[in-house]
Amino acid sequence: MRACRSVLVFMMFFPADQASAVVPISAGPVIQPGHYFDLEGRTLNFRPSPRGYSVSSSRVRPAGAPGELLGKADYQFIRSWGYRKPLPFPFRFGGKVWREVFINGAGNLTFGRPEAELYPERDTWPDATMQSVGGSINDRSTAGQELMISALWAINAPEEEKTQMYFRQSAREFVVTWKTERYQWFGEGYRPLGPNIFQARLTPDGSIALSYPKVSEKDGIVGVFPGGFSGRQIATLNGGFVEASQAGGTLRFSFAREKGSPQAAAIRLYRVTLADGANTCEIGISLGDSPKPWFGGQCTGNPGYRIDDRRIELFATTFELQNVLRPGVRWATWPAGPADNPEQDGHVDSVPFPLSAPVAPAKLSTMKGYREGNIFEVFHYPHVSKNPYPLLHYIYRQAPPQDDFVAIFTDFRIDDLHNHQGTRTPYGYAVKGIGAELTEPADTFPVTRSHKLQAVTGPAYLGPRYEEFLEDGDRHFKNYANAVGWLAHEFGHRWGLALQFRNPQTGKVENLSNSSGHWSDYLNTPAMISVWKMFCDKPYVEKSQMEGFVYYEGPAGVFFRQIPAWNIASGFSALDLYVMGLIGPEEVPDTFLIAKPQIRSGQEVWGERVPVRIQDIVAASGPRDPGVHESQKDFTVGLYLLHEGDRQPDAAKLKQAAGIEKALVEYYRAATGGRMHLIAAQPPAVN
Ligand SMILES: [Zn+2]
Repeated sequence: MRACRSVLVFMMFFPADQASAVVPISAGPVIQPGHYFDLEGRTLNFRPSPRGYSVSSSRVRPAGAPGELLGKADYQFIRSWGYRKPLPFPFRFGGKVWREVFINGAGNLTFGRPEAELYPERDTWPDATMQSVGGSINDRSTAGQELMISALWAINAPEEEKTQMYFRQSAREFVVTWKTERYQWFGEGYRPLGPNIFQARLTPDGSIALSYPKVSEKDGIVGVFPGGFSGRQIATLNGGFVEASQAGGTLRFSFAREKGSPQAAAIRLYRVTLADGANTCEIGISLGDSPKPWFGGQCTGNPGYRIDDRRIELFATTFELQNVLRPGVRWATWPAGPADNPEQDGHVDSVPFPLSAPVAPAKLSTMKGYREGNIFEVFHYPHVSKNPYPLLHYIYRQAPPQDDFVAIFTDFRIDDLHNHQGTRTPYGYAVKGIGAELTEPADTFPVTRSHKLQAVTGPAYLGPRYEEFLEDGDRHFKNYANAVGWLAHEFGHRWGLALQFRNPQTGKVENLSNSSGHWSDYLNTPAMISVWKMFCDKPYVEKSQMEGFVYYEGPAGVFFRQIPAWNIASGFSALDLYVMGLIGPEEVPDTFLIAKPQIRSGQEVWGERVPVRIQDIVAASGPRDPGVHESQKDFTVGLYLLHEGDRQPDAAKLKQAAGIEKALVEYYRAATGGRMHLIAAQPPAVN
């Protein structure tokens, strides 16, 4: 009877749902299994030995009285607030003797600096994973940039009623106990799985004990990061200009540098690339006013670095390179001055790299005996590349590459700290008159198999923030308001947002957007067509989906900023519709920019009003080409739902993805006044 009814329901709904074309993809080969926390009920013991620690574990030792509750933080930072505490005895860690320690909200102790200061140097927004954070801490502590004892690193709720930290001390011990709940709000994160109680205990002999009476969550970073690197050389390049060394799962790339020589002074970039066919990872550092290390290509995170007169060293963790560490991987390097671009000449010679797979991570629960360097384990949800190219390459072996826009979702939680993701753009054909970058969009065919792609976002798990109904404490949202807002924002990056105008007051060409490709915070960007009725029962302020603000002008140079709910679907501003090729220049009303802005409060800005008129935009950026009559109006969108290979896709998540797609199609029709059509890509015929 039940089966009959479900068939009937399915048949009744199917015709109405025909527009839905979410494509489930069995994604076993691109999923690395989860590795879940297994230390509940255990204590890890790290006893100092010359240059390292001897490690063992035991049944959890009694936590004892937690001691004094820590109140107002000395370092206010939402991701990891901190306290500075003198130690009751000198404590040796990382080759130094410490008299004080920082207790941090993200479940760790640091020496020298609070994590509140370290965190922004390895910021996690938008797409960090537990593994990328573990890798960054490993890389940076190996390089000497930070020192950490991580009881259970994670982003915890800062509210006092959700997370408490205690310490007690005597001449014999210094003990910190954390009682935490994970951080979540309506625009980020996951529902907490329950309380976590864990402890770090330091003793005068330099020993460290980490105890786990109760841990409800499955992920986090555990271990000691005293740094140190005693690797062996595994390869050199360019006559010894760069050498690669390995110590366990840590790689060091060390560049020779002759300080003072004119050649060395001209080198602004030091980098190596590792490539597995079209998949590449770049690890580099640019020297400017302050050194900026980076991962590029299909790797993300923050490499560690160390610079002295003779060498520049970069540190990476092998699991950060898992998109390229495959049999056949090759590496290359080239020093570059400001004018060099050997990539363009295609003359970068690569040679085989002697490491073809990430090193298997250590297991703390069974570890015994002596270890050097950082001793840690990253517990994480299943990993799929947070760079979408390898996923898209895989997807387009199963589905035709017909999409202009792509969003990749998963029906299972993946390793992703924030449940968020940025975009890769711009691709596809050139558009003139909306920014220099848009005149030379990239062709991603080698890494995605598509010549048509214009923007791709994901992967993202269809977690709480992508649900149909949401609360922000003030309003009830419906119709997947955050999912639609996020997708429309990410796809909006296809048009670059690099518009300029000629300031009529100064005659100078100025940017209307900021360096991250969003409208300037001081540009007035009200939505041209309002969409709030689709998503809420009461109106909300609609600024451009691509940022800026809606300003109300007060007297005497005061502008009041209207703060909308974060990332919620809202309309497009006239300038959005113009760069998208949906309205002509004559349809763009004047707006304004606030020059010499001074923020008086979160909502109040003082400054000078500069009119922003379309003729000044065209004067600076040139006319949009193709223009409104020739521009693309129909866009194919592909929503892919990855599922683990040994099962069917989750029916509820498939329904959720279909709901998001339907809302997105309706949203574009409404927000563009019917000028733009999103067409759902049709799934491949089942054979
Ligand atoms: Zn953005």
